[in-house]
Amino acid sequence: MGQKGRDIVKMNVDELINMLNKALSDEWLAYYQYWIGAKVVKGPMKDAVISELTIHATEELSHAELISSRIIQLDGIPVLSPEEWFKKTNCGYDAPVDPYVVEILKQNIKGEQCAIKVYSEMLDITQTADPVTYNMILQILSQEVEHEEDLTSLKEDLDLMLQRQR
Ligand code: FE
Ligand code: FE
Ligand code: MG
Repeated sequence: MGQKGRDIVKMNVDELINMLNKALSDEWLAYYQYWIGAKVVKGPMKDAVISELTIHATEELSHAELISSRIIQLDGIPVLSPEEWFKKTNCGYDAPVDPYVVEILKQNIKGEQCAIKVYSEMLDITQTADPVTYNMILQILSQEVEHEEDLTSLKEDLDLMLQRQR
């Protein structure tokens, strides 16, 4: 632990670590939702959707990487078991029980919108209290905004194609 690095945090560090562990739980669930979604998805434009879902899975995993490193820097313990993900998650988990491509896109768009809301609140909380965490969250949030747009534009293309075929 870097003592000075922890001292400069101008908020309750345990609360900050708990907030980061909640986000870490979200990231793991988001990772798996994308990863398994890419395996089971069926329907038109499947290949384009699979490659986007697969990239997003990798990016969610990289968010988990960033957050867990920050927790350790703050002398916290990152969530150690998957059961905790469900206790701590902000955004939950939507199992892709319906593999239809439009349904999978909708579930993941909903997940991204939740992530954007959560990270945006975390930015407000850390803005002056912890610039290091703020900077990391800003980086993650920018990618979640990108994710939402990627999925929305795929869904728009799909909707257009399905309308034309009627
Ligand atoms: Fe993420
Ligand atoms: Fe995302
Ligand atoms: Mg993308």
